[in-house]
Amino acid sequence: TPRLEVAGLSRRFGARAVVADLSLAIAAGQVTCLLGPSGCGKSTTLRIIAGVDRPDAGTIRIDGRVVCDDRVAVPPERRSVGLMFQDFALFPHLTVAGNVGFGLAGMDRQTAAARVGELLERVNLPGFAAKYPHELSGGEQQRVALARALAPRPRVMLMDEPFSGLDNRLRDGIRDSTLDLLKETGTAVLLVTHEPDEAMRMADEIALMRDGRIVQQGAPYNIYNAPADRAAAAFFSDINVIRGISRGALTETPFGVFLTPGHADGAAVEIVIRPQHLKIELDRNGRGPSPDTRNGAAARGIVTRARFLGRESLVEFRLEADGTRLTAAVPGVFLPRAGAALWLMIRRDR
Ligand code: ADP
Repeated sequence: TPRLEVAGLSRRFGARAVVADLSLAIAAGQVTCLLGPSGCGKSTTLRIIAGVDRPDAGTIRIDGRVVCDDRVAVPPERRSVGLMFQDFALFPHLTVAGNVGFGLAGMDRQTAAARVGELLERVNLPGFAAKYPHELSGGEQQRVALARALAPRPRVMLMDEPFSGLDNRLRDGIRDSTLDLLKETGTAVLLVTHEPDEAMRMADEIALMRDGRIVQQGAPYNIYNAPADRAAAAFFSDINVIRGISRGALTETPFGVFLTPGHADGAAVEIVIRPQHLKIELDRNGRGPSPDTRNGAAARGIVTRARFLGRESLVEFRLEADGTRLTAAVPGVFLPRAGAALWLMIRRDR
């Protein structure tokens, strides 16, 4: 059984369906990121799973036990879920130990104290027990919040933009150590974020959400490389669009013919390619014969602008055939001149 299983979850505010028939399952030790633009219903979903809001329809199971359906509503504190939100909301009048031990009220003092000590070790804050929140850095507060959430050994951890209050320099390190700890404890994690980079870094699975629905779910590699539609592609990076008209099962473009079955004759077809997946043929420099197209498609373009960004160069092109404007992101070792004519390649597997 999955640690967390959500089926057919729906929530309306007035006439508006903010969460619409949403389903997902998360196994022990698995991190799923609910990713989507602001306002698409991520936090509402999380609040319903936490038990602080009720759905209009749907079932939530934790370790196979129904905690929410049209008859059952287990209160938040009895769902075995840990919560971590952006504003860590540590209790300012309690010490670090008081904060971490807050959810251990039912435990005898000695066991609770041992558990607090163990967790402070795990989040790398030994010796911090007697300090107060205002004496800690943002990163340290975040680790205390994590320890507090994990102290009662929740089966499911719900995190809403938990790292967005931290400065960039700290963030990656804290993300990684948080991930290690969550994996170690076997908690099922549902993490809400609107940042693709964060989702790619943290997730075993990304559930891409739009208008209250999950539009695509899968490993970061698969979602990035095989997006469900144009909007799913554009959520992760800039995209190039090459246009053509469908003729039978084919679409004619400046890059030659693409196999595009399933479109009506005469339908407008858009071929979407990420800048990172557009290659420049270096050695021909536009002068030689057209490149080998057995493994891809090629078109000639004129460089309109090229910028060096360090790791990569962004090269903008205008296609000779029809003036389409495209951008290629190529390794930063390469920076062509504006005005150069070059072959652009799309590898067949892209
Ligand atoms: P996200 O977390 O993806 O940014 P939210 O789940 O917070 O999105 O909100 C989704 C939509 O539902 C937003 O348009 C928000 O204004 C609306 N909404 C959230 N909570 C309420 C509420 N209690 N009453 C009315 N509308 C709400």
